[in-house]
Amino acid sequence: MIPFNKPYLTGKETHYIYDAVQLTHISGNGKYTKLCHQFFEKKLNVEKCLLATSCTDALEMAAILLKIKSGDEVIMPSYTFVSTANAFILRGATIRFVDSRADHPGMDESLVESLININTKAIVVVHYAGVACDMDVIMNVAKRHNLFVVEDAAQAIDAYYKNKPLGSFGDLATFSFHETKNISCGEGGLLVINNPEFIERAEIIWEKGTNRSAFFRGEVDKYGWVDIGSSFLPSELNAAFLFAQLENLDDIQQKRKAIWNYYHDNIKDLVDNQVIFMPRIPSYASNNAHMFYLVTKSVEERDSLLAYLKLSEIYGVFHYQSLHASSYFSNKHDGRLLVNCDRYSDCLIRLPFYYEISESNQAKVVAAVKSFFE
Ligand SMILES: *Cc1c(COP(=O)(O)O)cnc(C)c1O
Repeated sequence: MIPFNKPYLTGKETHYIYDAVQLTHISGNGKYTKLCHQFFEKKLNVEKCLLATSCTDALEMAAILLKIKSGDEVIMPSYTFVSTANAFILRGATIRFVDSRADHPGMDESLVESLININTKAIVVVHYAGVACDMDVIMNVAKRHNLFVVEDAAQAIDAYYKNKPLGSFGDLATFSFHETKNISCGEGGLLVINNPEFIERAEIIWEKGTNRSAFFRGEVDKYGWVDIGSSFLPSELNAAFLFAQLENLDDIQQKRKAIWNYYHDNIKDLVDNQVIFMPRIPSYASNNAHMFYLVTKSVEERDSLLAYLKLSEIYGVFHYQSLHASSYFSNKHDGRLLVNCDRYSDCLIRLPFYYEISESNQAKVVAAVKSFFE
């Protein structure tokens, strides 16, 4: 059986967890949380990062920080995970969903400006499969209309736009360390604060609405309830696990890129013969090998391919179902047709992708895909 995903352990995870326990500080914001913060602040070249319990929670922090309230509009792609939207729905926002690009599941940047009105507060971009949105276009529109930009960079660790790391463009950005992402601690996330205006309040929201962080730095002589907030900071056990993974980021990324290239090079002839479509990486974007997907010509073909792979004990999976057409949202959608997004919902299939997949198993996957089309 070839699973879709399998978590990878570098070997140091339990060692660091043991160390955290020995240090008798296993709640949040201890040694390993600080090491993780430093790692990302250096890697992204940003001033402030805060570990979160998930990317979902980091997105909720972002919505609170932007003071999103009922009546505010937020623009985001429909082809994304529910958390991108839920975070803003929870604050009462109206969501305006954007279609995907014809050549990529990421959002069509050229459609964003037409959705802006007096109530628009923010644009949330999602770097699907770790492939950058065209950030020059997005940042330019946001600047002209005075809007905040949030990057949902859940899939975008070690990914770049014109050689600048994703997560360093928006006022705020979020990453995920869920088991299915390149770097994981089971469940975990990160909020990146690029706009210095938000740093102080981000720490307060992170510490359940208290100024506890400032108190521990000796900046105030007692701490108390100063704003809204929640339990967004993860325990040291998660941070210790995560730090072991971060130390091995380069190795993990090298391996994942080799896996991605193997699929790409060996399935390329099907693409050349226009049997199936493969990801296109725009020249301004890097490839962080988060996933490898194919796009079939119809939903029937996609479903038969998935079933065919399963008979060969290979677990491919489809991905997002358009949020604008979901049972929760469809009666709130403004009726625009989002055809590219629907096409990716119907036709996209992700192939097994994990650090330890062997070349012989990859060869089996490729052979099964090819034999399906013969
Ligand atoms: C994985 C993912 C999330 C959610 O991340 P969690 O850490 O599981 O909360 C949000 N947005 C996108 C685009 C994702 O891929």
